[in-house]
Amino acid sequence: MKSVSLHTLGCKLNYSETSSIAGDFSSKGFILKEYGEASDVFVLNTCSVTENADKECRQIVRSVIRNNPETYVIVTGCYAQLQPEEIAGIEGVDLILGAGEKFKLFDYIHNFEKKDYSCIYRSPVNEIKEFDEAFSADSDLRTRAFLKIQDGCNYKCSFCTIPQARGSSRSLEIGKVADNAKMIIDSGYREIVLTGVNTGDYEYQSGENRFRLIDVLTELEKLNIDRIRISSIEPNLLNDEIISLVKSSAKFCNHFHIPLQSGDPEILKAMRRRYSRELYRDLIYKLKDEIRDVGIGADVITGFPGESQKQFENTFDFVNSLPVSYLHVFSYSERKNTDAVMLPGKVEVRERKRRSELLRKLSDKKRFDFYSGFTETLQDVLFESVRNDGFTEGFTTNYIRVKVKDTSSLENTIESVRLISTDGIKPVLAERINVSAFSDN
Ligand code: SF4
Repeated sequence: MKSVSLHTLGCKLNYSETSSIAGDFSSKGFILKEYGEASDVFVLNTCSVTENADKECRQIVRSVIRNNPETYVIVTGCYAQLQPEEIAGIEGVDLILGAGEKFKLFDYIHNFEKKDYSCIYRSPVNEIKEFDEAFSADSDLRTRAFLKIQDGCNYKCSFCTIPQARGSSRSLEIGKVADNAKMIIDSGYREIVLTGVNTGDYEYQSGENRFRLIDVLTELEKLNIDRIRISSIEPNLLNDEIISLVKSSAKFCNHFHIPLQSGDPEILKAMRRRYSRELYRDLIYKLKDEIRDVGIGADVITGFPGESQKQFENTFDFVNSLPVSYLHVFSYSERKNTDAVMLPGKVEVRERKRRSELLRKLSDKKRFDFYSGFTETLQDVLFESVRNDGFTEGFTTNYIRVKVKDTSSLENTIESVRLISTDGIKPVLAERINVSAFSDN
């Protein structure tokens, strides 16, 4: 029997897709090994969102080949679609599969015998029309599953290569979304996290009927699941219907991740984002008013071409003024074949990093303030596995990471615990209430 190990870089969507590829190997009789263990075949599902992501991919491939020169190495994902020749230049890579070929791996390779050259199979991105279904687990515990409902993107943000890597927007038929969700629920998962490149742009046409994200959410809400997390959604697509559904049903997590990218109007325009800072601000306050205890994350990019010190400060002050709970901060990274790369006013890499550092400190403060608002309250937490340090960790519905000392009996349960203390960086320390009742069992 042959063995395979797989590794994922990048977003939740990639994780869900790697899980599906792993499932294909399993059904062909392969033994699944952990990443880092020696295996006959190694699959790397790559990201290409920044230059660093590309670099990390190259480092991983080289290290796998160094430690296990006989392994048959397959590289797929966004980097493979965008720069296959660059990957083929790494000695020991056997097969490179683009976005359209990722799920047809066994059509391209049968015997997994190493040769002294690499094969590239990659369709032009504008020919990619199919939707490849995927859903995944975060661990063997079956707590949270990532369900892919949409792929690709029709937006043309000037800094982004994702439309070139994944193609135009396409969505999973609404009936299949419900079927996949039922499979996830039947396997024992407690939470479904919706994933896609631009999830809010979900659109499926069936005859006269056009289904949007609100229809998907309405269908999922009818199922017997504890939690549904929308997670990332573009601000211009988070509409009143969705907000009102989330507000009306306890199954939806009171948590949104809403990309901002810049708080400066001119930079937003140069990025070709589809909203103004006023729309963003009004949305955040609406969520705060309408949805109890809502947790809101935001993505921000620093050092976009032409971003002056003043424009950076506009972003800093804007974010500082908003009731967001945490930030994901990225330093701008030049990507080939994007419009932004041609813009004047390059910001020095050191300065990009300095600005990112300032925003990360702001994020720590925001998170501390947000977490502190819940100390001494009782919160429902979906617990994952016991960690090496003896704590069990999990998430509240509004995305506070919580840890409780001991106990394996919490794994994959939702339990109400009292939040005790936080430093805003590490998980919030919490205690079980009613412990004696549990220990009597
Ligand atoms: S919305 Fe913009 S940033 Fe997001 S994937 Fe589409 S083009 Fe890229």
